[in-house]
Amino acid sequence: MSADVVLTDVNKVYPNGFHAVYDFNIEIQKGEFIVLCGPSGCGKSTTLRMIAGLEEISSGTLEINGKKVNNAAPKDRDIAMVFQNYALYAHMTVYHNMAFSLTIRKYDPVEIHARVMKAAEILGLVPYLNRKPKQLSGGQRQRVAVGRAIVRDPVVFLLDEPLSNLDAKLRGSMRKELMQLHERLNATFVYVTHDQIEALTLASRIVVMKDGYVQQIATPKEMFDKPENLFVAGFIGTPPMNFANGVIDDNVEYFEHISGIKLKLSEHQQEILGNYAGKPVIMASRAEYIFVDDASLAKNPNSTFDLKVDYTEFLGAYNLVYGTIGEENVIAKVYSRDEIKADTLKACFDMEKIHFFDVETTKRIR
Ligand code: ATP
Repeated sequence: MSADVVLTDVNKVYPNGFHAVYDFNIEIQKGEFIVLCGPSGCGKSTTLRMIAGLEEISSGTLEINGKKVNNAAPKDRDIAMVFQNYALYAHMTVYHNMAFSLTIRKYDPVEIHARVMKAAEILGLVPYLNRKPKQLSGGQRQRVAVGRAIVRDPVVFLLDEPLSNLDAKLRGSMRKELMQLHERLNATFVYVTHDQIEALTLASRIVVMKDGYVQQIATPKEMFDKPENLFVAGFIGTPPMNFANGVIDDNVEYFEHISGIKLKLSEHQQEILGNYAGKPVIMASRAEYIFVDDASLAKNPNSTFDLKVDYTEFLGAYNLVYGTIGEENVIAKVYSRDEIKADTLKACFDMEKIHFFDVETTKRIR
């Protein structure tokens, strides 16, 4: 595999002195679907715009297809961009919206026609080629915007929140279409979203950013199972992780939860927590690894606790149980077949799936 897009120590300082992106490093392989994700203002659009050439790179290098392109004009970068606000030309038909960028680049008309028809077929737009944008649904318009990028046949597609103008249902189906499109084109995608669910469903690798800094770069599964720090742990996953303060006992056998319960550490945890004897740590548990069924309780006798139920949300296959352990809030995801009859449930953690974080550095202890 060859790297398509390489960012090395890329920084962005805006003219007013605001440092929006710090030391961004990544090697994006050909055909990857990279999703830049993070809360508003974290620097994800700035990063994408630097790759596109719409924003100057303050320091560091950007290579596309093996060439340094820091100073290349956007049109010379072998990229095509799809924006949130897809701004189709209202007076042009779907066909001409897609053909336009090739026409102004003086492509041969036969070639233009072939490319537009191919893109229209891929996107299911053939029946709409003679329509104007206002005669299309939101999803169809979004597909035309993607079509304008496809006809350029770029090395890299850059997409900035392309689905955020669509309603929830349409977003779901467009997500599926984008995944299929990515597979079909076998091109490299760099995609910006603030929506972690979109990131988890689309990405081959996710980049989580906060305050201009990359927090972690990992596959969705790695990011979900092994968040690098407390920020990523709280950002990725619905419902968010449960956090609890507590102390590792002097013999490094137990985590003493702030509520007073003692949870037996697994062998692996005892190994990695060696330096934390008698010290405070933050425990993090996913709602899906809290169990209330008899078999799990029998299997995990040293990590049981009383879960006081405040309320439950029925979500079909499972319930979300909102409750407390002592004073600490906790959310558990419990199969609907495990009926919730009492105000207080006997529950247990699967300790193998529990993470501990350093109080000072906020990094996962490993
Ligand atoms: P959003 O999801 O809200 O679009 P984002 O993560 O894409 O957020 P950016 O647009 O990359 O964020 O902006 C990152 C930071 O840089 C923000 O704090 C923003 O206010 C700042 N910023 C953006 N453009 C400029 C500019 N031209 N001059 C100064 N600061 C800017």
